[in-house]
Amino acid sequence: MAESNNFIHNIIDNDNASGKYGGKVYTRFPPEPNGYLHIGHAKSICLNFSTAKKYGGKCNLRYDDTNPVKEDVEYINSIEADVRWLGWEWDERLWASDYFDTMYEGAVELIKKGKAYVCDLSADEIKVYRGTLKEPGRESPYRERSVEENLRLFAEMKEGKYKDGEKVLRAKIDMGSPNINMRDPVIYRIAHAPHHNTGDKWCIYPMYDYAHPIEDAIEGITHSICTLEFEDHRPLYDWVLREIGWWTQPPQQIEFARLNLTNTVMSKRYLKALVENGDVESWDDPRMPTIAGLRRRGYTPEAIRDFCERIGVSKANSIVDVSLLEHCVREDLKTKVESRNVVEKPIKVIITNYPEDMSEMMEIENNKEVPEMGSRMVPFSRELWVDGEDFQEFPEKKYFRLFPSNEVRFKGAYFITCNEVVKNEDGSVKELHCTYDPKTRSGSGFEERKVKGTIHWVDAKTAVPVTIRNYNYLMLPDENGNNQLNPASVEVTVGYAEPALAEAKAGERFQFFRHGYYIADEKLFSKENLVFNRIVDLKSSWKK
Ligand code: ATP
Ligand code: MG
Repeated sequence: MAESNNFIHNIIDNDNASGKYGGKVYTRFPPEPNGYLHIGHAKSICLNFSTAKKYGGKCNLRYDDTNPVKEDVEYINSIEADVRWLGWEWDERLWASDYFDTMYEGAVELIKKGKAYVCDLSADEIKVYRGTLKEPGRESPYRERSVEENLRLFAEMKEGKYKDGEKVLRAKIDMGSPNINMRDPVIYRIAHAPHHNTGDKWCIYPMYDYAHPIEDAIEGITHSICTLEFEDHRPLYDWVLREIGWWTQPPQQIEFARLNLTNTVMSKRYLKALVENGDVESWDDPRMPTIAGLRRRGYTPEAIRDFCERIGVSKANSIVDVSLLEHCVREDLKTKVESRNVVEKPIKVIITNYPEDMSEMMEIENNKEVPEMGSRMVPFSRELWVDGEDFQEFPEKKYFRLFPSNEVRFKGAYFITCNEVVKNEDGSVKELHCTYDPKTRSGSGFEERKVKGTIHWVDAKTAVPVTIRNYNYLMLPDENGNNQLNPASVEVTVGYAEPALAEAKAGERFQFFRHGYYIADEKLFSKENLVFNRIVDLKSSWKK
């Protein structure tokens, strides 16, 4: 069998070869519905769903809602929309809280086997008794309670006889274990708080390390993929399923390295604080690393899936350069979107020898890389706008664009020479007086003399104003390498576009010629207000 470079797939191949799960491959994506999904979740989603797909298996969407918090419908809706937008469909949508009864019975089973006990130590005392990496823990004075007493106390915990924190149920494993997770971990705690699904039925709730293996086992998950922090929890995962003993072929936990990205903070808690503090507009602010933010920014599902594929899965934590993500969206859009002429920081150009009442339609290709995408006709006349970056009164070295007495090619139109810089009273540039050479019309086959610079332009009479939101990184590392909010993460400017851009629809993407890839903003774009987000610029800093 060919070795895959995906170590998880190698494990599955071996399981299939040995018949461990009878060839079955069943995965799950288990978000806690307490925020929006981010690009790190996308890695987990793509891994779980693509693994199930590759092996003809199944993948569940399971809400990990064992904490009694209010259900936030906004989060549920966003999670489902994001998974689907990424291109996946779950086999079943399930709630961990639906398994509370089974989890309770499992705990009773453990008590009966002498494998769990009710402990009256406080949380702080438990911490002290737990020991450290260097020192073994000490046994709780409540460790040797009889099975009968434990059964009675646990039932009383369930019935609400005790206050939060008064008692817990602990697994009875080994206080001397070198693995701290195995030192009699708490598996049930008291929390007098209503649950969105189970209401007031429960005032005891299972801890994650106890609940998760049971959730997986109930659903018949075969390969429970999680991030590396849980590696040391795996012995507990296995212990729970082995000691309860109800499942003949229990699932196995497999850990992979979580995604870290430069210039990016991915914790839901942190992202939530950004929204609540008003540091960003919303969870789907185009600067956010959330799936919703990336979508609004203009990222495509194909680009994100390609990115997840390229970073692969590994057993070692690392930080991926965000420029790889940018590279993926450029690669995807390169052959998909049409180009448009748009100028920023516009400068007026007057072609003094071009007839006042004349206007021509110039043919401009829609996508240089894909001739089949055809061309469009763009109006050209005596007054034009050019980009602020395409003119320098006193050109720096190797500047080949417009400057006094220089001739350049206006893309798709004529050769044009700048003759005079007309100034405002304050000394700023009012307009450039230029002349054109009629015999250099594009497409006429004229090639007599070469010009070094080619610039784009927009006809002033028919131009449409556009609002351009140029995004920069939301986070920038400080001198210690710690990410801090970038105070200049968005620059909003008004530019001019060729008239075709007025026909754009919200969500439509373009290349703004020589500037970058842009999307008509899902929320703000309208016929009256043409708002575009910069998805990514054209320059790639990504190196193989
Ligand atoms: P956060 O710390 O951002 O709140 P989380 O791990 O608490 O994330 P969950 O909703 O519990 O969020 O995660 C659902 C799944 O997504 C888990 O299986 C988790 O391992 C995975 N996941 C979360 N963050 C990443 C990441 N950066 N890279 C890969 N997988 C991730
Ligand atoms: Mg979590």
